[in-house]
Amino acid sequence: MSGKLVTIAKCSTEAEVDGVSAALRLAAIEHVVRRATIGAPGWELAVRDVDSDRADEIVNDIYGINTREAEAAVVPPPAPLQVCESCGATDIARTPKLQIFLLGLVMSIGFAFVADSKLSRVSFFLIAGLAIAMLVLDKWRCRECGNGWK
Ligand SMILES: [Zn+2]
Repeated sequence: MSGKLVTIAKCSTEAEVDGVSAALRLAAIEHVVRRATIGAPGWELAVRDVDSDRADEIVNDIYGINTREAEAAVVPPPAPLQVCESCGATDIARTPKLQIFLLGLVMSIGFAFVADSKLSRVSFFLIAGLAIAMLVLDKWRCRECGNGWK
């Protein structure tokens, strides 16, 4: 093995050495195990300078300190933004379906009380019609071009 050697992991147990060594072998990265020269007793795994970035990633994966994943976990995914399919505007209004439904419901029931008993069945149709309107009504509406969608 030629070239400058870079220490990529320090291991305190032989099992640890075996684990890292096996992972490096799987990735076909040449490496050497040597007695730790500095600090606590143990072993060092060293690879050639050119392999050190790749080897670092493998070692980080083994020890669960994958920095890219850690960063990704901290930053929450952006909230889905409603965009008009027709003009691309982001000025979107949400149709207050529930409020419209409740208002219509109250009015229909009020009508049933006020109206003649023969007419009270009309309020049933009003409520039924209202429910259907709720299903048909668009949930989103573009303030730019008036395009509506679910
Ligand atoms: Zn639009």
